[in-house]
Amino acid sequence: MIPARYGASRFPGKLMQDLGGKPVIVRTYEATKETSLFDEVYVVTDSQIIYDEIELHGGKAIMSIKEHESGSDRIAEAVEHMDVDIVVNVQGDEPFTSKEGLEQVLKLFKGEDAKKIDLASLMTEINDWKEISDPNCVKVIVDKDNFAQYFSRSPIPYPRDKNAAVQYYKHKGIYAFRKQALLDFYKLPMRTLEAAEKIECIRYLEYGKNIKMAVTNVQGIEIDTPEDLVRANKALKEENKHTVNNKFRNFPMVPKVVFGQGSFDQLSSIIAPQRKDKAPFIFLVDDVFKGNKDLVDRITLRFNDKLLFVSADEEPKTEQVDQIVKDIKSEFNYKPSGIIGIGGGTILDLAKAVSIMLTNKGSAADYQGWDLVKNKAVYHVGIPTISGTGAEVSRTTVLTGPIKKLGINSDFTPFDQVILDPDLTKDVPRNQWFYTGMDCFIHCVESLNGTFLNAFSQSYGEKAYDLCMEIFLGKEITPEDSRGKLMMASWHGGMSIAYSQVGVAHAMSYGLSYVLGTKHGIGNCIVFDHLDEFYPEDVILFKKMVSEHQIDIPKGLCKDLTDTQMNTMIDIALSLVPLWENALGENWESIMTREKLRSLYLKM
Ligand code: NAD
Ligand code: ZN
Repeated sequence: MIPARYGASRFPGKLMQDLGGKPVIVRTYEATKETSLFDEVYVVTDSQIIYDEIELHGGKAIMSIKEHESGSDRIAEAVEHMDVDIVVNVQGDEPFTSKEGLEQVLKLFKGEDAKKIDLASLMTEINDWKEISDPNCVKVIVDKDNFAQYFSRSPIPYPRDKNAAVQYYKHKGIYAFRKQALLDFYKLPMRTLEAAEKIECIRYLEYGKNIKMAVTNVQGIEIDTPEDLVRANKALKEENKHTVNNKFRNFPMVPKVVFGQGSFDQLSSIIAPQRKDKAPFIFLVDDVFKGNKDLVDRITLRFNDKLLFVSADEEPKTEQVDQIVKDIKSEFNYKPSGIIGIGGGTILDLAKAVSIMLTNKGSAADYQGWDLVKNKAVYHVGIPTISGTGAEVSRTTVLTGPIKKLGINSDFTPFDQVILDPDLTKDVPRNQWFYTGMDCFIHCVESLNGTFLNAFSQSYGEKAYDLCMEIFLGKEITPEDSRGKLMMASWHGGMSIAYSQVGVAHAMSYGLSYVLGTKHGIGNCIVFDHLDEFYPEDVILFKKMVSEHQIDIPKGLCKDLTDTQMNTMIDIALSLVPLWENALGENWESIMTREKLRSLYLKM
């Protein structure tokens, strides 16, 4: 609950002041919501202006019925008839409300002495005497278990002995109440200590309630004065700089990898140390291997381990991920020890997504985007059986959701372990081998020709590119050699785009896939065949590879599209801004207009 009074005495209308393009109260609401710690977030206000503003931004607001003396009274009225356990009071004027602080207060309700707690709040260490003696700064003292003993505007304790080692704490205005405690407060009259200090929470102490404190060192910025607002606007600009600036990304890599023909047999011994008591391993295996004794018999299932065959006919969908997670949760009481994905990009992506969704609430669709995943995934292992996508190394799992095709790109996405056994790719049909292999070739072309290129991407991209030339145009390469090399090319290609981006072919192929269900590898080939304008030399090489290996590239896919379909395809492709920016530079919009895109699609 975010209590929001319009007429603050010191800085009237402060909650409606502009902070980086949005009112302060909207920022606070969004920051609170983004923590994902709450089932619901509401702004409770006396002001129609604030109410409308929150609704306008898609948030939830409640109008207070009565006049209230304090924020707690305001939220008490709002929750009186709601079915809630814990109510957290977030200050409307703290737009930088941090997740850490809120998480800390909430955690207290799960601690050993949780039963004793009526409400919980935060305090932060202060050491500067100027602040300690400032009456605007409310100090708090606690007992050995961190229950508050008193709050005051005076320095408490008084330092009669100047050498005594005492830590002063400042109280921070975040409270988490049990509902009853909050309602009690609402009905109890103010007593003298509260009246004298003008500190709300003293009332609880005066009526014998227990306030548990947690120490936090996160400093927010409260907006109390116009100067604070200037400071906050500056801080926001800094913050934006960091989120938009992808120049120095701190990139997780797959920490463990085994390579070599026959290395698949090490799977059991590799995962054994990760087994947790009664928690099963779940094997997601491409159903192309159903009845393939050579592979299936080499998977050792122990205790309640489970092998699920999954079709790779369609690319992974968020609802499919949700369903698998639901099935696993309903069958097992324990969170799995690990998820093992065995298959191509489709199965590897599913394995990554399922492992994430076993520890994160809601639908996989909620996490499509960059860095939205909150909790570490369960242990997950990737074992590719076809090479090219780089899904085995990447930080993303590409999913088609209800409104977009977009990866869950997060630090928790990459596999904890990968097993690269080139023998597993032996039976891949020739066309498919080529389509998926070309995904790798195209990753390299798009990365090496992109404006985001840097030495990191280049070093991986050039190696993978050379390997592709050897594999697809080399004269004297044995099948065995080719399989090992393509496996490593896929890996390097994946690493190359990790620190740069893909380009035109991928953006357009995503459009095809969204509207027509065209799969990634073949979709890339269909598109790339017509991109001589953007990648002239590489398209010539590509055509040579196609004819050398006598591959069929489907044609005429887009000629019968309806206007709606074509427009959706264009929308999906154009929404992939970083890809276009990498391919065509900052002014990409003037080059890749809707008309241009339409004419390209019509050729395909
Ligand atoms: P895939 O997993 O869809 O498999 C293609 C076909 O090959 C399927 O029919 C499959 O059953 C079959 N197959 C796989 N291994 C086989 C084997 N050993 N023998 C015989 N048949 C076999 O294809 P893919 O090209 O590897 O993956 C495409 C998917 O990868 C797409 O969903 C795409 O979005 C995704 N992708 C992900 C990333 C990433 O970084 N996460 C990158 C690129 C692509
Ligand atoms: Zn790709």
